[in-house]
Amino acid sequence: KKGTSNILVCLKCSWQDFMLTCLQVAVRLRPLWNKEIEKDEFEIVRILDQKVVILMDPADILNEQNVLGKNRSKEKQYAFDFAFDKDAIQTEVFSKTTRFLCDGVLNGYNATVFAYGATGAGKTYTMLGTEDKPGIMFQTLKELFTKIKDYQIDRNYNIRVSFLEIYNEQIRDLIMVSSEVLDLREDPVKGVQVAGLSEIEVDTPEEILDLLIFGNRNRQVEATGANETSSRSHAVLQIICEHKDRDAGIEAEIRIGKLSLIDLAGSERASKTNNRGIRMIEGANINRSLLALGNCINMLHENNSKNQQNYIPFRDSKLTRLLKDSLGGNCRTVMIANISPSNACYEDTHNTLKYANRAKNIKTNVQRNVLNVEYHVSKYTQIIGQLKNEISDL
Ligand code: ADP
Ligand code: MG
Repeated sequence: KKGTSNILVCLKCSWQDFMLTCLQVAVRLRPLWNKEIEKDEFEIVRILDQKVVILMDPADILNEQNVLGKNRSKEKQYAFDFAFDKDAIQTEVFSKTTRFLCDGVLNGYNATVFAYGATGAGKTYTMLGTEDKPGIMFQTLKELFTKIKDYQIDRNYNIRVSFLEIYNEQIRDLIMVSSEVLDLREDPVKGVQVAGLSEIEVDTPEEILDLLIFGNRNRQVEATGANETSSRSHAVLQIICEHKDRDAGIEAEIRIGKLSLIDLAGSERASKTNNRGIRMIEGANINRSLLALGNCINMLHENNSKNQQNYIPFRDSKLTRLLKDSLGGNCRTVMIANISPSNACYEDTHNTLKYANRAKNIKTNVQRNVLNVEYHVSKYTQIIGQLKNEISDL
């Protein structure tokens, strides 16, 4: 049954338990590095009103004697839910992109935040950050623990994390490091799961920051032409929040919310990095995952904008299988597209903005995850009873 605005009424749950939300898209611009300034690189991106991104072709800027914004007709403009300028601090990015997801996750909803962009654009800085300036992963855990302190009075919470990477289409644990390759399984209740992945129980956010920095060092990082520490893998932090009422007995409903925070591999094309041999194979696989992600985003965009029901190729890569719930299914999703301001990155920045622009219209159905079947059966019984009463009144 269609309700008002974007809310669907679901007979299975109470009406707020099921809703249609749009994928939120934010863009974050990083500052120009000193070494870029030394090489006479210049800025080709401007942010307006925290929403609009303006991109200039460097050739046009050079023709206009380096004055950004002089010839408006040649500027490319894109509008997003948020556009963060180069001076935006970590807590601001967290507050506007991820904080609003935390309450939902603590109440049994799924959410995903992923950072997309070329190597060096600021994905790892945004998601993981540094010890001094921790990024979204740490800020999220801190927020969850602060909120739990308020809720603990009447509910029992259990927070677990796992950290994995997808490298060459193979999944590996980043916390319990071994060479073992893990498999994806689809669970009818819990959704897509990684079999054998370790889950660490967490009591404080601080203990996890060290673990994340350790895990990030275990990622497959190798020198490439584009950036010496280019990350060739996708890193996924999953935070699982499970809770039940403190006083409820064995029959209590258990709610499970899963928050996935994803630092994707660089989206630049393999050709630019002068890859050879093994790098080429990696490039092909990284492109396979990102290409599949792009294809899924395109198809979802088509379906949403033209009201079609095209098949979405989630099964084409490990990344899209893992993100299936986040993009097309039961999840609130935020994409943060990271971009460099430099003229040298014009192609990559343009591609990232086009990609992010297409992701804006994707809609996902969000539903609370409840483990106890009794809960739904009792809701059904209640609704059937009401309907029977209505019929007998006619
Ligand atoms: P990516 O993960 O996309 O390859 P990084 O996050 O590693 O890129 O960023 C590359 C470099 O730029 C790092 O040294 C990082 O500290 C710096 N950097 C990225 N984004 C910002 C930002 N918003 N503010 C300050 N420094 C940044
Ligand atoms: Mg990185």
